[in-house]
Amino acid sequence: MAAFLEKSFLVKGRIYNIALFLVHFVIPLLLARALSINPLKHLLVFYLINTLIIIFFFKKRYSKIRNLELSLEGIQEEINLLNVEYSKELKNSLALKEKNLRYNSLAKILEKINLSLELDTVAEVLVQEAFFLIGKEKGVGILYLIDSHNQRLILFKSKAEEKGLVIKAKEGDILDLWVLRHGSPLLIEDIKNDFRFDPDKLCALDIRPISSLISAPFLIENKQLGILRLDSRVIGAYSQDDLRFLVSISDLGAVAIENSEFFKRTQDLAIHDSLTGLYTKSYFMERFKQECKRTIRQGSPLALMMLDIDFFKEYNDRFGHTAGDIVLQKLSRILVDSFAKFNPVICRFGGEEFCVAITGVDKKEAYDIADSLRLKIENEKVVLRRSQTNITVSIGLANLPLDTMDDEELIRKADKAMYQAKQSGRNQVCCI
Ligand code: GH3
Ligand code: MG
Ligand code: MG
Repeated sequence: MAAFLEKSFLVKGRIYNIALFLVHFVIPLLLARALSINPLKHLLVFYLINTLIIIFFFKKRYSKIRNLELSLEGIQEEINLLNVEYSKELKNSLALKEKNLRYNSLAKILEKINLSLELDTVAEVLVQEAFFLIGKEKGVGILYLIDSHNQRLILFKSKAEEKGLVIKAKEGDILDLWVLRHGSPLLIEDIKNDFRFDPDKLCALDIRPISSLISAPFLIENKQLGILRLDSRVIGAYSQDDLRFLVSISDLGAVAIENSEFFKRTQDLAIHDSLTGLYTKSYFMERFKQECKRTIRQGSPLALMMLDIDFFKEYNDRFGHTAGDIVLQKLSRILVDSFAKFNPVICRFGGEEFCVAITGVDKKEAYDIADSLRLKIENEKVVLRRSQTNITVSIGLANLPLDTMDDEELIRKADKAMYQAKQSGRNQVCCI
């Protein structure tokens, strides 16, 4: 528009100048010649006045054109400013749209991770959503968790653009350790130009070729639970906004991961005895009922052994309660090791009483197994304050289907047999 205006002004100006030239120079000359007059002096004065008038008009004209040019420049400048403002607004509105989309996605992620308390499902949702929403299914997405025993990272879940990609850094690489050490998110736009990491060291570590990365720790009140990271071979694959979004996902993730760890611990506590790690009585009863039903259906035998440590009160009195606890733990390990090949259900039935249910062995076999276990326990030395101690156990044995077909009756019979073993002098196996 500005260019058009400028052009039309220039064209008009030129026509006007030509007209002036014709009127004031050419036409008087032609007239003088046609009329054959030679009033040279008058003509000179006339031309002089005309020339002055023309110069005056030319000047006026040019100053007008100059003013127009200046105002055109001003308009052009305003147009440019408006264009810049417009593209800024466009960018802002796009960024706002993206933010809106991401907030909606966060709500959906929250919904998905709230559907399950299983750590595996929660981790899968987190890495999948980050890889899909931020990574646009390019590069690699990895979720590491921290092993609470040794505080090391463990590769827990990953997603990769390249099918069959093997991630060698099972315990994380120096970039993950940086995030752990600083407890803060990390954005690398171009790893070769990042002053925080020595490219030679990175090459020496034989890690996957990556150029850019975003990584965020799972943090709950300064406690680190793991890391969520995305990396790419492409330089500048991620922006500050991407990192902010990843941090929001990992904030949600941290709460979900902690909830599922609590849930797992509560579940474990409910079915495992805290001192020995064996099943609790209540969980054993559930499993035992199922096992009885299954073996009756399959027509195979089931043996139930009930063990009780002999004179354990005396042992405690003599060596202390802590020593007694160590013995209980040791006995539990012996039970687990001895029955490993039988796929047993073992529990701590009460204070110093244990139950073992094994399937597929008849009464005679069960007696031999129980007696060799009794002997093994008797010969096992427990070293306390440089002196060797040992314990013995009394074992009651009952068999399904020979003794009964009822699970509760089977427990009663094994208990009765164990009582008989006590009555008969302890450190022995008794059957009903
Ligand atoms: P018996 O040969 O008749 O079974 O004699 P006992 O002394 O083993 O039997 P009693 O029932 O009189 O005592 C059981 C003891 O087991 C008493 C208790 O101090 C001990 N006990 C039970 N639970 C624990 C435990 O968790 N830790 C320790 N150290 N001792 C326990
Ligand atoms: Mg007892
Ligand atoms: Mg006892």
